[in-house]
Amino acid sequence: MTTRIKHLYLHVPFCASICYYCDFCHRVYDEKLANRWLKRLQKEIEDKCHDQYETIYIGGGTPTVLSYIQLEKLLKLIKPFANNVIEYTIEVNPESLSEDKISLFKEYGINRISMGVQSSNDEILKYLGRRHSFNEVKEKIELLKNNDFNNISVDLMYSLPGQDMDILNKTIDDILELDVPHISLYSLTIEENSVFGKKGIRSLDEDIEADMYELIEKKLTENGYIHYEVSNYCRNDFQSKHNLGYWEYEDFLGVSAGASSKIGNHRYTNTSSIEKYISSYSNTDEDIILSKEDEEFEHIMMSLRTIYGLDINEFNQRYQTDFLERYEEIISADLNSFKIAQDRISVNNLEILNHILVNFLK
Ligand code: SF4
Repeated sequence: MTTRIKHLYLHVPFCASICYYCDFCHRVYDEKLANRWLKRLQKEIEDKCHDQYETIYIGGGTPTVLSYIQLEKLLKLIKPFANNVIEYTIEVNPESLSEDKISLFKEYGINRISMGVQSSNDEILKYLGRRHSFNEVKEKIELLKNNDFNNISVDLMYSLPGQDMDILNKTIDDILELDVPHISLYSLTIEENSVFGKKGIRSLDEDIEADMYELIEKKLTENGYIHYEVSNYCRNDFQSKHNLGYWEYEDFLGVSAGASSKIGNHRYTNTSSIEKYISSYSNTDEDIILSKEDEEFEHIMMSLRTIYGLDINEFNQRYQTDFLERYEEIISADLNSFKIAQDRISVNNLEILNHILVNFLK
């Protein structure tokens, strides 16, 4: 029996240029290469997509770096599987978002936008290798709102070289002024293969990073945002439904170069090389079979990331176990860290999640 998959992720592996902190699977956009990639993607979608998805997420890379014609082709490929979609997200960067692309999104049922903003300080944006100014961010958010896109998320980065508490404070105020219902938080990690990594740039001191996190937490929660996941804040019920699927450890299908899927106890990963992806006849590069222990730990780890926590009954049914009995020692040794209500267990303070998770690994 095949189970229905509710979540689809599609990776667009191109960017206009590579930001200095980034080492995701991506390439500088090339029109011909992107056309070949689209052709290959069509085959993968035909082979693998069989469901009507509740959430669809087009991420990257930078999906909006594709031309209007390419974006339209892409959205047409997904259309047959988007008849019952509840949340349909696309990631955008301000400089490549245009009014005609926004109309296209509307036409194909996209109802959520995730914009890479990172900072409101133009010098920092430049230092990061971003191609937009904060004014452009404001203009494009306005344009989205004028076109009835109100479910907007923005990314905010902290712990950046050159960013002090005053600059961060101003950035938070500027982001609050955008008046969007969802904010995702990223602290800078220096990846070995990024431009920063190769240049030997260092992260900020841990204490400063902690102060920055505290400032963001204070200002966002004072302004009506709910800290619903370790790195995510939302107003009202604007949580990312797609990401909630990951955090509830539901199955998802990922397509395109560099995408991975979790289906049952399999984790499939496609090659991150665009050339290999285009020339390969096989759809999947790696198939890892997760043991029951792996699945249980991953399930706990993902679920405790949110304030909604882990659904104990669902966990018990899925793994034929008794969660509270099985982990009684860990829970009772640290009772103040957990909240158990309505058959769900969550962590009281998401900041110390990693310390708590270590115990479940033992
Ligand atoms: S941060 Fe985003 S836009 Fe910049 S290179 Fe990475 S994927 Fe592309």
